[in-house]
Amino acid sequence: MVQHLLILGGTTEARELAALLALRNVPVVLSLAGRTITPVAMPVPVRIGGFGGSAGLAAHLRTAHIATLIDATHPYAATMSRNAAEAAAIAGVRLLALRRPPWLRVDGDDWTEVADAAAAIAALGEVPRRVFLALGRQELRPFVAAPQHLYTIRSVDPVEPPLAVPQARYILARGPFDAAEEYALLRDAGIEAIVCKNSGGAATYGKIAQARTLGIRVILLRRPALPAVPEVADAAAAMRWLDHAGALRGV
Ligand code: NAP
Repeated sequence: MVQHLLILGGTTEARELAALLALRNVPVVLSLAGRTITPVAMPVPVRIGGFGGSAGLAAHLRTAHIATLIDATHPYAATMSRNAAEAAAIAGVRLLALRRPPWLRVDGDDWTEVADAAAAIAALGEVPRRVFLALGRQELRPFVAAPQHLYTIRSVDPVEPPLAVPQARYILARGPFDAAEEYALLRDAGIEAIVCKNSGGAATYGKIAQARTLGIRVILLRRPALPAVPEVADAAAAMRWLDHAGALRGV
């Protein structure tokens, strides 16, 4: 009996795991939310778009004969992770979460951890600052409440419509970002504060390391609570877990 795997992706780790599974000829499909206009090429078949909540995902798991669901979404994609846990329980499907560990504060970091964008705005204060908003396009809107700052905003696709603040400059770029690139961006723009998520991983750590070098304050949005399910930290560990669970048998 062939066991089908479904990866909920949108992360580097999801792509890495898909590549490892493809090498083993495992029948796997990778699911994307469809947020990026031109997603990077994937080594396995891709489906795009939401399922319609946990019930929709559970129905999909049944009709597509999925035996194993891998939640490899971004650590801040809490709704999808909750849906994955509920749907796996409803459909009686094996579930593994592939979650990048968070960055940890080291000596020299000037970090302020906050609950949400409103708290980040409060932490930035009233005095106009040059702020690097390293957030997703969907997460920028709250910053219209703090129009006094000069924002530098980097995104994969254009921010449409632009943020309704008097001073914002936009950079279109897709990670990973190397340390030298981040140093130049932060220094040349005279950045005084960064607002970002604690995404973990190497691809976007450059700004954190260079903020330390340049003495820039980093305001980190705290990670959301995620469902307690079996969890691994990288694609290689996911392969070991899946092998051990028998999820790759018969493929
Ligand atoms: P979210 O708030 O947890 O999810 C919102 C809705 O988007 C879900 O309920 C689901 O719709 C749909 N969705 C999310 N991930 C999906 C996937 N992999 N395949 C199919 N549908 C998906 O998620 P988000 O924060 O908007 O993130 C969306 C995607 O971007 C995720 O794949 C995530 O890995 C990636 N991403 C997110 C961040 C971030 O900071 N949040 C950063 C980088 C990449 P239905 O309820 O209709 O099924």
